[in-house]
Amino acid sequence: MADASVTLRDRLAWLAFPVLMGGFVVLAAWGLGRGYDPVRWGMGLTVVNFFVILGVEQVLPRNPRMNVFRDRQSLNDVGHGMLLAALGRPLGGAASIGVMAMLAELRGASGLASVWPEAWPFAAQMVPGLLLWTFSDYWIHRSLHTFDRLWWFHSVHHDTPQMHILKSGRIHVGEELFNAVLKPIPLLVLGAPPEIVVFVGLWIVFDGNLVHSNIDQRFPGWAHYFLPTVQLHNLHHAQDRRHQDSNYSGSSAIWDVLFGTFSHPHRCPLGPLGIEDSPVPRGFLAQLVFPLRAQLATPAVHGPSASRTS
Ligand SMILES: [Zn+2]
Ligand SMILES: [Zn+2]
Repeated sequence: MADASVTLRDRLAWLAFPVLMGGFVVLAAWGLGRGYDPVRWGMGLTVVNFFVILGVEQVLPRNPRMNVFRDRQSLNDVGHGMLLAALGRPLGGAASIGVMAMLAELRGASGLASVWPEAWPFAAQMVPGLLLWTFSDYWIHRSLHTFDRLWWFHSVHHDTPQMHILKSGRIHVGEELFNAVLKPIPLLVLGAPPEIVVFVGLWIVFDGNLVHSNIDQRFPGWAHYFLPTVQLHNLHHAQDRRHQDSNYSGSSAIWDVLFGTFSHPHRCPLGPLGIEDSPVPRGFLAQLVFPLRAQLATPAVHGPSASRTS
């Protein structure tokens, strides 16, 4: 009986990623391909995805000690997530569109506007869409770890020993502005249609929720080179700086492999998560102010470069 229950749990853990990621990606592509309103379809799927993952975390936990309802930082996570949704993404998106308006003439003059393969089927256009997005995501995330003044914003995301669904939205609103302005630019410069931009944005939401979730997800060793696996992103959240400064791409490790920042979970044992001797305060308002105060108190706050060991 005990063996049967272990087997069932193992099977569910092997199915978790393909069902949850594949299912929502197919739903997103299906709706957008049929011409549904991209904003409404995207927002609806985002809400459903959140609650499905929250529910599955309760029945198939990866680590029983981690839970949304027992984490004292969960309310702060909700606050950061709400600021990100209400302020960071809309303002950043608007700024990004503003940048695009400025680049429009340049695109027209350079011929870049006609580069996007609009004649390809929707599914085929997803490939360059995801490659471009993950490329800019990789370099922006890497810069957040490389420059102290950016790391202080990003440290709010890393300052947690717990991993669960709410951690995907625990992003300082200042960091999100930076992300939302810069990440879509390669797609927009090359003239990707709105459906592709929305689809890629949804893919990032779905895989971001899964890699931060406390759902037990199993993968064969080779899958870590291509797929957004929870094991890769847990290593990225480790206190050990050799692992924290690796696996920057939450969506696919291909850029980490190409640029030499890949850590394979089978070769790197996972230690404690979070930031060693973290300077990030516990209170929500103090967390919002922290990166701004750190800019003025540079010698007193140690960022990535100050404590880099490898
Ligand atoms: Zn990071
Ligand atoms: Zn993360």
